[in-house]
Amino acid sequence: MKAGPTVALRSNKPRRQRSQPFRLRTSAYLLALALLPGCGGSSPEAQHLLLVSIDGFRWDYLQRAHTPHLDSLAAAGVRAEALIGAFPTKTYPNHYTLATGLYPENHGIVANTMFDPVLNDTFRLADRHTVRDGQWYGGEPIWVTAEKYGVKSASLFWPGTEAVIKGRRPTYWQPYDHELAPAEVVGQALTWLDLPPAQRPNFISLYFHLVDDAGHRHPDSAWVQAAVERIDSTLGLLFAGLAARGLAASTNIIITSDHGMTGVDTNRIIFLDDYVDPALLGVIDWAPALALRPATEFQDAVYSGLKGAHPQLHIYRRDEVPARYHYTSHYRIPPIIGITDLGWQVTTRARFRANPDGFTGGAHGYDPAYPDMQAIFIASGPGFKRGLLTPPLENIHLYELMCRLLGVPPAPNDGSLERVSLLLR
Ligand code: AMP
Ligand code: ZN
Ligand code: ZN
Repeated sequence: MKAGPTVALRSNKPRRQRSQPFRLRTSAYLLALALLPGCGGSSPEAQHLLLVSIDGFRWDYLQRAHTPHLDSLAAAGVRAEALIGAFPTKTYPNHYTLATGLYPENHGIVANTMFDPVLNDTFRLADRHTVRDGQWYGGEPIWVTAEKYGVKSASLFWPGTEAVIKGRRPTYWQPYDHELAPAEVVGQALTWLDLPPAQRPNFISLYFHLVDDAGHRHPDSAWVQAAVERIDSTLGLLFAGLAARGLAASTNIIITSDHGMTGVDTNRIIFLDDYVDPALLGVIDWAPALALRPATEFQDAVYSGLKGAHPQLHIYRRDEVPARYHYTSHYRIPPIIGITDLGWQVTTRARFRANPDGFTGGAHGYDPAYPDMQAIFIASGPGFKRGLLTPPLENIHLYELMCRLLGVPPAPNDGSLERVSLLLR
């Protein structure tokens, strides 16, 4: 593995008791925020916040491509050596963690593909019916917090923004469109910023998938370099558009990502049918976070058949998952979990034969402590210090940070403003 930021497998501060109400009175909180320098306050004329996700942007991609716009944003603001995501390092769980400050076990988006035994339904990214169903989404995402306090929000796109959560959606949102070109995403953001102040959103989330697509081809490839450079140029259009509108000085921008990427190949595959009858497994999700929901009568056989069977596959019952993964408490986490070492994939021989090429390229979902799974964090604007480089930061803290920038009181979450306050001016 290449040299990277070394990250201890550390746990965070003890979690705030989620059943306790947020203690500060809202009005006192808003007044205190309004008096703080660098904070938005709750008026619609206050500073804007743009939250930009470049899916699958590994922390070190910045050094592998020509990124003048990202570099100048970092020079004018703050950059973390890496952003550490939550387990599993997949798109939906981590975008929703970024938005809520909650670990997946506390917000309920525990995987890209998951089964809910109460709803008796399976959530899949390609299934618009589930993606838009608010019943899947726990916690309070930043756009809901913003709207609750009268701060208008807009999204193009963000996991969860198509669903009604706690009775709200962003004021402006659109169904996820994988074909929309990056320049069109930026164009829509600028169009929203052209609205009269009373209608203009103060919080906008943007999302780009191209770097993730390229990384799945292979993280160490010219495709990644080209995708990173294309997104960097697109961000240049965004920054120029803000400047042309006189909004550059009043806009905070956070550029981040959900996870990194690692190279995978057919030499590191674990075939489950070498150890257990695949008909018994009840697979909900495959590699690298294996989610198994066997029929109750087969659970012991599956567990004992797989436990210790392969040195790179770590099998746990839900209540045995090591605490540092924060992956136990939610009832959607299946009874048996398998977690592979970096670069290892799990399948059956029949699945492999059906699509051998699908096991070569790039993958993510592994333990967030691996540097390859870590993402970027760059932020700049009137709320942020200038020219600061910080050690790796955990993504659970961004919700608190965004609430502070928008001047709204945060809902209960797993993050801590203290951990990010050093970034703020
Ligand atoms: P992953 O492999 O976990 O990084 O998933 C990336 C994929 O998630 C993207 O290529 C998109 O197809 C999908 N995706 C991202 N955002 C959304 C969204 N808001 N709604 C539906 N699918 C999405
Ligand atoms: Zn992703
Ligand atoms: Zn991906």
